[in-house]
Amino acid sequence: MADSFEAKGKRKKLVVELRSKGITDEEVLRAINRVPRHEFMDPAFLNHAYTDKAFPISSGQTISQPYTVAVQTSLLKVKKRDKILEVGTGSGYQAAILAEMGAKVYTIERCRELYLKAQKTLAILGYSAEFFYGDGYEGKPQYGPFDGIIITAAVAEVPEKLLQQLKTGGRLVVPLGDMSSQVMTLVVKKEDGQYEYSYHGTFAFVPMLKGTAK
Ligand code: SAH
Repeated sequence: MADSFEAKGKRKKLVVELRSKGITDEEVLRAINRVPRHEFMDPAFLNHAYTDKAFPISSGQTISQPYTVAVQTSLLKVKKRDKILEVGTGSGYQAAILAEMGAKVYTIERCRELYLKAQKTLAILGYSAEFFYGDGYEGKPQYGPFDGIIITAAVAEVPEKLLQQLKTGGRLVVPLGDMSSQVMTLVVKKEDGQYEYSYHGTFAFVPMLKGTAK
């Protein structure tokens, strides 16, 4: 489905809504205004694509709520050509937002069906990203270290291997908590090698699972 006047209008309204909810990063809002979220969902759900809600995709997974994508992306403070690792490709929408902002995106998905589908969607839309099918707990050390790491599934604690793949000055954004709710956590790796933690509201993500699936 091509982008349409109607979809563009709905995105503009979504951006207004996100501003009213406290999102101020202009680059993030610009990217949300440009990326056609409906292309990442079943075409039957065009009317749902631009409401500020998470939505089911295939394999029992969800495309994150636009507000959540906006919060996580704002916390990353993405600059052009930054190397960003995403764990949990899902629909590929978050990866497209990062690509739209000029980042070099590396994204890992444990579910093969989603990995294949997201790759197609981004190619059709003309966004480039490096896709990997595998267990995100391992990260991608051969492509690191990264300026930013974004985990889009819930974990109880920050995976150590991912922390190790962060540059000095790099930022890792992760929903930390149990299955029912998580606190959006920003970890910044400081010059002295210490990690600085800060907390940014409560969210509900699907869990990060070990290993891979079909
Ligand atoms: N960022 C996505 C939403 C992600 S939903 C989007 O923009 O649409 C969380 C995703 O994390 C799911 O697709 C799930 O399959 C994936 N996931 C869960 N555990 C994982 C792991 N260990 N490694 C990689 N992906 C994982």
